[in-house]
Amino acid sequence: MIKLEFISSFFYTQTPMKLHEIAGIGPKTEAKLNALKIFTVEDLLLTVPKSYDDRKIADTVLDTPAYYEATATSLPKIFSVRRNLKRLTFKATILGETIQIALFNQTHWFHHLKPGRSIVVYGVFKKSMTAQRLFLKENFSPGLNPRYKLKTISDKRFREWVRAGFQELKIPESLPKSIQTRFSLKSRHDTLYQAHFPQSLEDIQAFYTWQKIAYLTGRELSRQSVHDHKMSSAKPVAREKVWAQAAALPFSLTKSQKESVQMLLDDLEDPRPKRRLLQGDTGSGKTVVAMLSAIGLLETGHQVALMAPTEILARQHHQTFKTLFKDAYASTILTGSLDAQTLKQRLEAVQAGTVAMVFGTHQLFSKTTRFKTLAQVIIDEQHRFGVNQREALLAKGKAADLISLSATPIPRTLALTLYQDMDVTTLNDVPAGRRTVKTEVVPLKNAKTLDYMIELALEANQQVFVVAPRIEDDEALLSVERIEHYYRDRFPKARLATLHGGQHAEEKTQTLHAFQAHEIDLLIATTVIEVGIDVKDAGLMLIYHAERFGVAQLHQLRGRLGRHHIDGVCYLLYQGNAAVKQRLDVLKTLTDGFELAQMDLDTRGFGTLFGTDQSGFHALDAWPYEETLNLIQAIQATLRDSSDGTSANAL
Ligand code: ADP
Ligand code: MG
Repeated sequence: MIKLEFISSFFYTQTPMKLHEIAGIGPKTEAKLNALKIFTVEDLLLTVPKSYDDRKIADTVLDTPAYYEATATSLPKIFSVRRNLKRLTFKATILGETIQIALFNQTHWFHHLKPGRSIVVYGVFKKSMTAQRLFLKENFSPGLNPRYKLKTISDKRFREWVRAGFQELKIPESLPKSIQTRFSLKSRHDTLYQAHFPQSLEDIQAFYTWQKIAYLTGRELSRQSVHDHKMSSAKPVAREKVWAQAAALPFSLTKSQKESVQMLLDDLEDPRPKRRLLQGDTGSGKTVVAMLSAIGLLETGHQVALMAPTEILARQHHQTFKTLFKDAYASTILTGSLDAQTLKQRLEAVQAGTVAMVFGTHQLFSKTTRFKTLAQVIIDEQHRFGVNQREALLAKGKAADLISLSATPIPRTLALTLYQDMDVTTLNDVPAGRRTVKTEVVPLKNAKTLDYMIELALEANQQVFVVAPRIEDDEALLSVERIEHYYRDRFPKARLATLHGGQHAEEKTQTLHAFQAHEIDLLIATTVIEVGIDVKDAGLMLIYHAERFGVAQLHQLRGRLGRHHIDGVCYLLYQGNAAVKQRLDVLKTLTDGFELAQMDLDTRGFGTLFGTDQSGFHALDAWPYEETLNLIQAIQATLRDSSDGTSANAL
């Protein structure tokens, strides 16, 4: 679901109107909406369609999926194909021909269908049809139909409430006047109305444009508001201790690692508060660089916080820190899953300053976490956090410096535009002795031929990663569940587990732990594993529907292999034509994350850069590179030149 949270939370001014004030919403429905994180009428109106359907009834047979009017001519039957897969079939007349129609997992139609019933089906018309969707004739509305894809509520009902909501409520404006004028935008209220009730494709396009500008403007504003404190941030730094620790490491630093440590130490001594983006290919050793700079502060009695997007990653960093520096510094870790008692004790220790180095997840920026002398904040995988989360953590220190770590390296000019308030440092060499990851490109239809590779890996006591793209409703993708089903049958003795966004945080953490401890042999996951986790015995990775991913993301995924004693092999299973294969083939020879990231920018645009930023709306389109960069610069210029830009601290 796409929600404009980044705006709604920033610009709340009205007293929220309750959902049950809308006709048709009773307590039961309200609970359902709450489960979808919709608590007020504002939330309702800000829940915009995920996509649109342009519905026309076909009057001749087409060879692509289309809507057809039909009349049922038989009663339906239900078959169980296998666990979790039921097929419903019936006969119907379409354009004068009677054919068999099948639907999967939509058995609720059973009670609605009988001979003579008028319906509309959506699918490809052949000798038979697998219908993707079915409507009773009276419920089918032709034209532009928004699709909200809220699992528990039909689009039709949802839209009625939205319509009612709009009669009660004026959505407050969120964009500065200067931006509205510069880009000739309608009001936020009108734009959102258009999004829910478009009259034409232009209305939808205008909404997308508005959304993009609003997103980028929000990004700029939230940064400006925090950038102007003038407190001196010069801190005493124990440089010689840092280099002594560096010399005691089990490996020697690369040239760019040394230079980066130097630069970070300079930052700490600089009276201006420093923010630095440290970017480098996956495996380039960013973490140890950041930790070494931290030691310069720990040695002079300051605290440092390192925040990671997942618990498993935070723990991994904590462990690395303790091992690399032989427990020389008091450290702890704060996560959401700690029991209340332990959390309380640790929070007290952090507040009292008895632990210097603090690792953690989102718990770090929560209100309950207080530091004594927080002087530096390190954020791993920075794109996974929102700007305000980062600022909340920084605000816990006095003029604390910031290091953001990013494994999606981007060109310098772009980085400087995107992160205007940051300096940018790049690790451009990779530690010696890295294992290679061999990459192969294989058509998806040949996936089964790789079974023997899995068998070999399992026999050699290696672990196997299988990655599948996120599953969206009715897309014809091989999903985690279907792959799981197949491999459970195929490798009954393997210890197998799945990992995806639909699971609870706790379950995910447990699974990852078990995988790291090699209690699981084969892990089937969505891209939640992308984050820099370390799995010692991983030797093989299969990526299903590799065509769905950017090459930089594929590169990061395969970076999970070859980290330890085993050389890795990564298979990219693709569906598509020669051009698709060609794009993936690049990964067989190219191992430079920078070049791959540039390729993604050129071919896929900006979208992927914003990662899982709060809004989740990067999915809307591909955000062409040049155009988006120009747009950002135009927004920056408009805000700079106008007075309302700098005074816009509605945050
Ligand atoms: P990333 O840049 O992907 O975050 P990490 O910081 O996780 O990379 O480093 C990957 C691994 O390489 C870690 O186990 C780290 O201790 C190790 N490492 C870091 N620098 C070097 C180096 N110069 N030589 C050898 N190993 C290194
Ligand atoms: Mg990392």
